[in-house]
Amino acid sequence: MRAQDALVAATRRLRAAGIENAAGDARRLLAHALAIAPDRLTLALHDPMPEGADARLEAALSAREARQPVAQITGKRLFWGHAFRVTRDTLDPRPETEILVETALEHPFVHALDLGTGTGCILISLLKSMPFAAGLGTDLSPGALEVARGNAQALGVADRAKFLRSDWFAEVPGRFDLIVSNPPYIAEAEMEGLSPDVRDWEPHGALTPGGDGLDAYRAIAKGAPARLMAGGRIVLEIGPTQAAAVTELLAAQGFEAIETRQDLDGRDRVILARKPRDPAECGAL
Ligand code: GLN
Repeated sequence: MRAQDALVAATRRLRAAGIENAAGDARRLLAHALAIAPDRLTLALHDPMPEGADARLEAALSAREARQPVAQITGKRLFWGHAFRVTRDTLDPRPETEILVETALEHPFVHALDLGTGTGCILISLLKSMPFAAGLGTDLSPGALEVARGNAQALGVADRAKFLRSDWFAEVPGRFDLIVSNPPYIAEAEMEGLSPDVRDWEPHGALTPGGDGLDAYRAIAKGAPARLMAGGRIVLEIGPTQAAAVTELLAAQGFEAIETRQDLDGRDRVILARKPRDPAECGAL
């Protein structure tokens, strides 16, 4: 069988299973089975399927029919132009989160803290773009920390990126001029309504803090002033309905210049704020 025929059959099969982006997913899974980059696939379509590729494609399609996310099946996700390893221990990096990276890079920094780092995609992307900076990534999940360390190694920033198991700020030492986080923010009651790809396969603790979805922001806003240098910045991803609530949490801790940024769909996605230059003005409230 030619790869082209395998692609047509795979697309049909995923469509029949109700997968939304059947054609795109089939291409990524076929490229994975052929062990080539997805952008090389078109060139390989006229060749016969090499030995072993059929079995790899079959396994990948069965997993996708069971709603496992493509990035978990291929083990990779492109984010900020870099290939990150993704497993069941980590949130699958979303394109919207690149807005957070872009926003954080608006001002130079030398020492960044990424709370709930997952794959490490935010911290590692920041360090790749800021060659003289160093950073610390934390997570509660030992599995995620192992993935993040591997990604830092593979992407050549292991000498500038440290990773630490910590419940938000609990074990975090030192001071930073930038704090970033894409924390769990889905309300408990909204979990049921998520697509099975997300709800059944991605780590529960990376999606929801329980309750109204704001607990992670409460912990982060409360602890941030003590770990930020005067004039330092905080940049957080938020859910589309959370801008007002998170603005209020940051304002209550004395943060200033609080702004909201939108994603490409026009939804509120990122909040940024600054700790006042006079430290007495922030965190003393
Ligand atoms: N953006 C993710 C989603 O929509 C949620 C990630 C998070 O809670 N930080 O599924």
